[in-house]
Amino acid sequence: MSKLFLSCDEASHVCDKAQYNESTFWERLKFRVHILFCNLCKQHSITNSKLTETMNKSKIVCLDSKSKSEMKKCLEKEMKSQDANH
Ligand SMILES: [Zn+2]
Repeated sequence: MSKLFLSCDEASHVCDKAQYNESTFWERLKFRVHILFCNLCKQHSITNSKLTETMNKSKIVCLDSKSKSEMKKCLEKEMKSQDANH
């Protein structure tokens, strides 16, 4: 917990933990610092939270991995078209 800058591996780990509310305040802070300069992890975080949000909204309790990856693909496509509009 001493360094401020996370590697991409660590950042994605924190991102996954944050999804389940298992990350600490300090971890989330470091993650936010990381995504300030790392677009890849920023994108990963957006995709992750969108996916969680969508699954919570639709109250899907059990999805097989095929539907999950299809949903993710669909969201990524949607976000790409949003980027194009900027
Ligand atoms: Zn990164």
